[in-house]
Amino acid sequence: MRVRFWGTRGSIATPGEGTIRYGGNTSCIEVQSASGTRVLIDCGTGIRGLGDLLMASGARPVCGHILISHTHWDHIQGLPFFVPLFIPGNEWDIYAPQGFEQSLQETLAGQMQYTYFPITLGELGANIRYHEIVEGSFLAGDIHVHAQYLNHPALTLGYRLEADGAALVYACDHEPHSRPLAAGDGAIGGLDQRHVEFLASADLVIHDAQYTAAEYDSKKGWGHSTAEYAAEVSRCAGAHRLALTHHDPRRDDASVDRIVTDIRRRVAASGSSMEVFGAAEGLVVELHGATDLHLPLLPGEVSAIAPPPSALFERTVLIAVADAATAAAVLQAVEANGIRAIVEADGDRALARALDERPSLVIVDQHLPGVDGPAVRRALRGGGGEDERDVPIIVVADGEKNAAPGAEGVSDWLVKPFSAAYMRTRVRSWLLRTPCRWQKAPLPPDEEERLSALQQLGILDTAPEERFDRLTRLAVAIFDVPTALVSLVDRDRQWFKSGYGERVRETPREMSFCAHVVAGRAPLVVPDAMQDERFADNPMVTGEERVRFYAGQPLILPDGSCVGTVCLVDTRPRELDERQKGLLADIGELVRRELLLADRQADAAAASARSPTGG
Ligand SMILES: [Zn+2]
Ligand SMILES: [Zn+2]
Repeated sequence: MRVRFWGTRGSIATPGEGTIRYGGNTSCIEVQSASGTRVLIDCGTGIRGLGDLLMASGARPVCGHILISHTHWDHIQGLPFFVPLFIPGNEWDIYAPQGFEQSLQETLAGQMQYTYFPITLGELGANIRYHEIVEGSFLAGDIHVHAQYLNHPALTLGYRLEADGAALVYACDHEPHSRPLAAGDGAIGGLDQRHVEFLASADLVIHDAQYTAAEYDSKKGWGHSTAEYAAEVSRCAGAHRLALTHHDPRRDDASVDRIVTDIRRRVAASGSSMEVFGAAEGLVVELHGATDLHLPLLPGEVSAIAPPPSALFERTVLIAVADAATAAAVLQAVEANGIRAIVEADGDRALARALDERPSLVIVDQHLPGVDGPAVRRALRGGGGEDERDVPIIVVADGEKNAAPGAEGVSDWLVKPFSAAYMRTRVRSWLLRTPCRWQKAPLPPDEEERLSALQQLGILDTAPEERFDRLTRLAVAIFDVPTALVSLVDRDRQWFKSGYGERVRETPREMSFCAHVVAGRAPLVVPDAMQDERFADNPMVTGEERVRFYAGQPLILPDGSCVGTVCLVDTRPRELDERQKGLLADIGELVRRELLLADRQADAAAASARSPTGG
């Protein structure tokens, strides 16, 4: 891998005679694998010069991938000046952390509105694909990318790139999770340890080092590292080289030199052979590592491609905080994310609600009336609920000395005082970090033919009919379930021709269990939806319906189109034995015959309508 620095400055571009050597452009890194895959990380003002060079090279088309750490100005401001995006025929993939309020495209379009810029995002000529991502992995050409959340007041991803046997990590903008670590010493634990693991054995770490330890006191909560912290986490990770970057705009070349010299001395004194340098515009670093490669994606590795955003809004956060003012601030941050919150100031009640309502995130005070914070933590970790998921727990602490990194059962600390932006981002990253256990069914390959066969049945949105209702009634009695349905899977919904025990006539297709049967064209039995990766976070499971058991029999027409199912639903987990599966198939056959009867009736009606004599 070949790495070139195009922008190394933090916060704002700083041209001038004092910044000639390290450069005045904001963040941009170019990475190229031996096979030619081009990945750019961040598009601060530095990306403009890179774009011009690529265009001048004459090679066409100009294609690549752009990884955006977050959408603060100093990381996106060069994008409207990156000429390859204007040229038809060029292909670019842009990746950035998934937001809540607006899509990536809307965020990037924001800075190109008419008031600010003469050309809109929509007028860019290249074929641009936008990818909203969460923590996890994906492939950009032959470069394996891992994304992990950093600690910043905006949702921010660090990127680890592996290719050609080498590994590179880019970690800007990031503040130590445990603030005392900003001094560059002390035991590393918790999320800082996770950060160290993210940097493990990297051939090159490019790390935020905006401040020095001496400056940090007045910069707490601003979302940046000290050079001392960057050096310590990189050294502990066994990194080979460290580039200090995101230079503070007030820093001239001589003062960056002083920081680099100082950090080199520290690293050498610790007995480490890690090489340290200041990231400088124009600098090229060749990486020929011997890092073990992960290519292609490992089984079990989580894809970074984001889950459906609506999944996030189904989640609930439990806030168990005694102090009313703090509880109100936390509540505001949670609700600003559009997420439902439960607030309990008493430990006993909080624990009961946690076990009952299965929140996706728990924010708990260190000290609570009733069952104390640590006891709530132990009770949640020890199980006791039906859902044995490891719910993330954020503990609110008064002051750094009360927050022990790596304490048992604590996923993260929230140390008072904290800003609203920090709190909001913290909630987001924990919710996004919890893998979404809800998969939408894939579309069957014959989707269009299937939909037209369903239309031709002429049955959608017709009134209930006894010939179907008697079959769902029988199913409920035979299987002793509360609900049986004849479900037809339409383009965006499933519509129930008959629904014994069901109050609604249709639900969105993305929540539909039956859509999975239609995609698989085979019977599906889900003994316990809460234990099933495809359904556990489905709103039909987490919401009022409380679906736990599902069994669906496909309804396949003579032309091969699978139009829906007859299915059984229960709020208790259960199994179907072979005899019962046979009975469900029998009912499926009866429903199918009724559907075809409707088909024939529709044909007859159409024929008689066409006939001149009426009928
Ligand atoms: Zn920045
Ligand atoms: Zn930032």
